[in-house]
Formats: sequence, structure tokens, C-alpha cells
Amino acid sequence: MNYTTGELASITNSELFGNEQLPVENIAFDTRNIFSSTRVAFIALTTEKSSGERFITEALEKGVQVIIAKSLPVERTDFTWIKTTDPLRFLQILAKWHFSQFAELKTIGITGSNGKTVLKEWLYQSLCNEHRVVKSPKSYNSLLGLPLSLLKIEKAHEIGIFEVGISKPKEMDIQSGLFLPQIGILTHIGTAHLSNFASQEEQVREKLKLFTHCSTLIYNGDNLLVHQLVQELYPSTKKVSFGLAPHNTLHFAALPERPGLDALVKDGSLEYYLPIKTRDHATLSNALCVMATLKELGYPPSAIREKISALKSIEMRLESVVGLRDNIIVNDSFNLDFDSLTIAFQFINEYTKERKCLVLTDFVESKDKEQLYRKVTELTNQQNFQTVFLVGNEITHPKYRFNAECYRFPTTQHLIDSGKLNTIDKSVILLKGARIFEIDKLKNTLELQKHDTVLEVNLNHLLHNINMHRTYIKRTTKMMAMVKANSYGMGGYPVAEFLQHHHIDYLGVAYADEGVELRKKGITTPIMVMNPEQSSYDSIIEYGLEPEIYSFRVLDLFIDKLRAHSKEGNYPIHLKLETGMNRLGFRKDDLPALALKLNSLDVRVQSAFSHLSTSDLPSEKNFVHQQAARFNEMTSFLEKQLSYPFLKHILNSAGITNYPEYQFDMVRIGIGMLGISPDNTLQDKLLSVVRFQTVISQISEIEEGESVGYNRSFKASSPRRIATIPVGYADGIPRLLGNGVGSFAIEGHRVPIVGNICMDMLMLDVTGIECKEGDEVVVFNASPTLTEFARDCNTIPYEALTSISPRVKRIYIKT
Ligand SMILES: *Cc1c(COP(=O)(O)O)cnc(C)c1O
Repeated sequence: MNYTTGELASITNSELFGNEQLPVENIAFDTRNIFSSTRVAFIALTTEKSSGERFITEALEKGVQVIIAKSLPVERTDFTWIKTTDPLRFLQILAKWHFSQFAELKTIGITGSNGKTVLKEWLYQSLCNEHRVVKSPKSYNSLLGLPLSLLKIEKAHEIGIFEVGISKPKEMDIQSGLFLPQIGILTHIGTAHLSNFASQEEQVREKLKLFTHCSTLIYNGDNLLVHQLVQELYPSTKKVSFGLAPHNTLHFAALPERPGLDALVKDGSLEYYLPIKTRDHATLSNALCVMATLKELGYPPSAIREKISALKSIEMRLESVVGLRDNIIVNDSFNLDFDSLTIAFQFINEYTKERKCLVLTDFVESKDKEQLYRKVTELTNQQNFQTVFLVGNEITHPKYRFNAECYRFPTTQHLIDSGKLNTIDKSVILLKGARIFEIDKLKNTLELQKHDTVLEVNLNHLLHNINMHRTYIKRTTKMMAMVKANSYGMGGYPVAEFLQHHHIDYLGVAYADEGVELRKKGITTPIMVMNPEQSSYDSIIEYGLEPEIYSFRVLDLFIDKLRAHSKEGNYPIHLKLETGMNRLGFRKDDLPALALKLNSLDVRVQSAFSHLSTSDLPSEKNFVHQQAARFNEMTSFLEKQLSYPFLKHILNSAGITNYPEYQFDMVRIGIGMLGISPDNTLQDKLLSVVRFQTVISQISEIEEGESVGYNRSFKASSPRRIATIPVGYADGIPRLLGNGVGSFAIEGHRVPIVGNICMDMLMLDVTGIECKEGDEVVVFNASPTLTEFARDCNTIPYEALTSISPRVKRIYIKT
């Protein structure tokens, strides 16, 4: 979009204070993502969780000149204010108006409960070579996401692909008020958000409202309810159904026996062979949907076949790994266009590294290159990269001037051979390139650990799980995230950094050195240390960590240290109260003396807390109530004795769901972040965060009577197919899982461990399973779950996860 402030005000019927002539090309709603302030307006949206007005000052400090808000919390007049009573409505009205300016645009609207984003990306991949296509960025499809997506439309665009999401009844009325597509696509209907609807029928009817102006409706007809409702509501619209069931217009008549062979697709009376590489249902359905859409747009069968075979799996995520020389490598080499570049730039700004480095290639799928490269140069120059490596024949032209130490190479191999990358340290390195340049090869030169075995941590899911727990507590209750023991084995800093970015109130670690490491890497969120060892008081004070004080001895020693550092005066401490766990803490009888002492000392009690020993045990409810009653009594006493307020907290993850009445001022979440809860209702809504995977090193066919592994504890009673994988007890797979106790998964099939587990390897019986060397093996993820894996190991998820060796590479996923 490109409007002046005056136009924005008049389109939306808003008041304007300031300059009417300022150009605005982008509207930002999150100050953390403002990476360029030119021609940007900041809109102060109010959500359930926060009020955007709190961030106006920050936006102004970042140089933004235009603010769209209901009211202003600042006494400044050196900027332009567009006053609107409802900022979200403002965006919607603007988007509607903007969209109406492009009557020529061919529009595709995608709704459904799953798979919208993957489908959109696939359509984009299939169309972007012949057409100028605009699409929703990432999965922008909400009441906020749709208007922001529509505002991306420009004159040159020929096709617009937009995702439309709803989570509640009535939302589609708002969404379809802005946008009604010509080609409508309904993907799979699942159970996401179902809880907000009275029935699945209500949910489907609501989604179908998007299609009232469609000339063609393409839908997944496997769900019979959908099939029926579509016929009922749209009797005269052209309809194409797709899916696995044979009643669909497009369906598979035969799936290939082995990967690598073609699948036979029936399209009404026509038959095609499609090169489909997988057999998973979501991918198969998506391929059919792309096929139906391409056909609708007039592509001939030969072109469709070619496009389907070229579809790349969609990595809707940016992968980051720890690199050599204290670098972080962010790999985004899936596709390269201006939007995804913008998103990647926002993404790396979340890292608190001192320096930034960029590897960027030619853009292949684009028409007006000259103008594009100018825009890219301008955007890149606003990011303050120290070093930029350019790869290709076009972007490397000296007329594009990058304000950085800049190196130019014709190919990725030339860049590797130059050795220049080896000089980069303490940086976040963004790899951003078009696929044909294969810059993911650089990952191998840059990565710290090169094993095929990884523990993948999905930070998006972690955030989702936190938010799910938040629904049990008041908005004002604070949250401490327990990141002790390297965040339960997931990795201390990357998790803490992500949580800090998402405004967690407190972090909790076990030992001072864990806290020191976080501080050294730039974490500024308050950190409580639960086991402040005597020898660590100096570093606690030096790095501004907050100790748990559980006895008079610890209090006295700590005060001495504070004096030695001349740090007396309000130093924050946390009092641990003993209410039933009998681990650490002050007892009730200690309190009068403790209060007296605290009042004479120069420390500030930041919080008083205790820990429940049975929050996840239904049979011990009474004990929880008893602990809570003791806690209440003890903190009330302290509150009377101390002249100032302090935070109180007692709940861990299981406590949050089972005893929200004891949330006090703060709760401490740990295992719940990982997606584990004793509450079945909540458990169903949580997402799995960690995925431990490896690959098959070798497959051997053994004869009847042959044995496997040390001690020959497995002897084949018939011919078997045995896969060796490179994980063993030194990686955290306990030896007791050997000889059939544990099993892992290959392509969804469970395969048992055979023989004894070795230090660095173990063997699986894969007889009858389709697999080959190099294929992925899942130790745990969604199936087997971490909980199942732990049960097989005869322990609890906490121990299973913290036992995974540090030599297993951790990879972090965020979008
Ligand atoms: C580890 C810990 C927690 C978190 O417990 P979960 O069961 O993982 O939620 C909370 N409080 C204290 C004091 C802890 O040590």
C-alpha cells in the first residue's frame, strides 16, 4: 500500500493531528518488529493480553513518525496522530477499501481448520513463475492477519492468495465483509477451535460463508458433513471436491506400492499419473487441491504434472542452530522473495548477538529485478549488518551498494572455498537464498555439531503451551518459567531468550552458574537462583541474580557478601518457606526471628514462596490444601511484620491446572511448557515441544539363528531385517530399554529395540517396514510421546529429558 496520512484518515473517517502529507507504506503493530522507521505507521492495538498504547513511546524512539491510536499516553507533539476509536476496525476498513481498488485481481481464498498455510505456499510455488502473485505472509489469517495481508496488494499483482481463519462464531461475517474470493478453497476440517462452536455443523456453516461470491468452490469432500452442506448451500456454484474417498471428483485410484512410483489420480472421467513422493494423507490431499486449482486456472495436464513434481516440502519455519565460534546460524533457504526476506530480518533481530552477518543470493522468481534489488539493498542497509556475502550474477553487481563489509561470489562453492566465513564470530548469521544456490550447504561448514541425531525444540509450541496454562489464571498473575537444568535439557539460553522476547516475568534456575551464563549472553529478565551455593555469592551479586534464601545461615552469609560488595540496599531476595515438602525452607517457628532480622537488614524480600509436593496426585488433595493453608498463614504473618508488599507463589505446572485458587501473585511453570499435563482436558490442547530423532546408519538382513549385538542376547528365530542407529546409552537412551522393552518410530511404524543397547548405537527390528539407510527414526515426539518413552525407561519425563546427553545437537524451531 502507499497512502498519505491524510488519505488514511479520510478513508477511515478518522481525525488527524499533525502532517497530512506523510507517506505510509507499512503498518506495524508490534514494536519489536519495527526494523525500519521510514514510511511506517505504528498502530496501537488492544488485545486481551496487552494494550498497544504502552508501546507508543518505544515506537517513537525507534523513529516512527505516524501513530494510529485511540489515545496517547505521551506528552509529545513531534509526530502525527491518527485518532481512531477502534484500531482493529480501522485496519479492517482500510483493507476493505484497499482491496476494492483492485477489481482486476484474480482472488483465491483458503479456509478450513488445517493445512491452509502449506496449501497457500504450494499454490504460490506453482503460480509464481508465470504470474505476479501476492499472498498472506506466514499464516496471517486472523481478524488482524487478513487485513494486513490484503494491504500487501499492489497494482502489478495478478493473483492474490489469502488465508482466512476464524476461531469463533460470527468472525466470518467480519472477514467476509472485507474479502470474498472468486475461487474458494475449503481444506480439511478438523477439531481445531471446535470448542468455541456449538457443533461441527455450526463451524462448517460459518466457514462456508466465505464462498458466497465464488465462481468455483474447491473443497475437501472426505468429511461427509462438509460434502452435504456444500451441496445444500451452494447448489448452483461450480464445485470440485477432492480427497481420498472415491466419491470425490478428484481422488487417488491407486497409491504407489513403493516411494518413487507414480500415483494414479482420477479426475471425473480423466486419469492422470502424478509423481507423489509420500503417502501421508495431508500431503496427498493438498496435492489434489493444488491440481484442482491449477486446472481451474487453465493449466493443461502436462503443466500440472510438472508443477506437482516440483513442489517442495514447505518448511514454514526458520531453523536456528548453534554454530562454531559462538555464532548462531539461522537457515532460511527455502524460498527467497521480498516478504520472506523481511520476515527473516525481523526474526534475527530477536537475537541479542553483538554482530549480524548475511548471506544473500540472487532472487530467481521475479520480473522487475532492477527495482527489486534496489528495495532489497535499502531494506538490508537499514539492518546494520557487519558483513554481507552476496552470491550470484545479479545481486553481486557493484551498482547495488551495501553498507557493510561486502563480499561477492558467483556460486556458493566459491564462497565456501574463499574461507571468508571462517572469520565470522559472535554473530547471528542469516542464510537467505533461493534453492538453486543450495546455500544450506554452508550450514555444514558453520555448524558446531554435525550429527544426524538431533533434539528438536519447537518454541512455537512451547509458547502455545504457556498460553494454554495462562487460561487457568488471572491476567494479572505473573509467570516464572523454570529454565533450570538447561531448561529441562532443551537448552538454557535459547529457551530463556525466546521467553524473554515474549515478556516472561521471571526466570528460575537451579544454580548460579546457569544464571550467569544467561546474563553473559544478554538475558535481562529477573532470574531467581534456587540453590545459591556459598561459593557462588560473588557471581550472584556481580550478575544481578536473585537468590532463594532458605535458612538463617544462608541469609547471614549472603548479607556478609553484600556488604563486601557494598551492595546493601534493597537487594532482592526470595524467601523459601517450608510447608510440607521437607526439602529447604524456613519453618513457621523461624518467622518471628526472621521478620525481626529482615527489618534490620538492607535487603528487600521480592517474594516468598513454597513448593507443592503432590500437585499432580489426585489422591493427595488434602495435603495440597494443607500446604496452601500453611503458606497462607506464614505469608500473612510476614506481610504484617514487613512494611512493604512482596510476591507470593506456590504453584508449579500441575498446580496451575489443579489448584488455580492458589495462584497468589505468580505461578512457576516447568514441565507444562513441554506439553505435559496431568489434566486430560488440558493435555489434549497442548502440543509436543521436543522431538528426538536420528537416522538409520545401516540395514542388514540376517538369517535365522544369527544374533545381534553384545552377549548375543537377541537370536533371530526367522530371517530379520535389522537397522542400526547412532544413539546409545551415552546419548541418554537407558540400557534398560534394550531387548524389546523400548520401541521407536519409522514413518509412523513402531519398531522394537533388539539386543543390548551399546554406548553409541543400538539396533532395531525393522522387518516388514518400508525403510532404507538414511531414513529418519523418531525416538520420541508425538508418537511415541516423551511420556511413553519415559514410562518405558521406568522414570518420569523430567528425568528422561534431562538425561539426554549434551552431545545431542539441539535445534530450535520458531516461525
Ligand atoms: C522445577 C520447579 C518448578 C516447576 O515444576 P514443574 O512440575 O516442572 O512445573 C516449580 N517450582 C520449583 C521450586 C521448582 O524447583
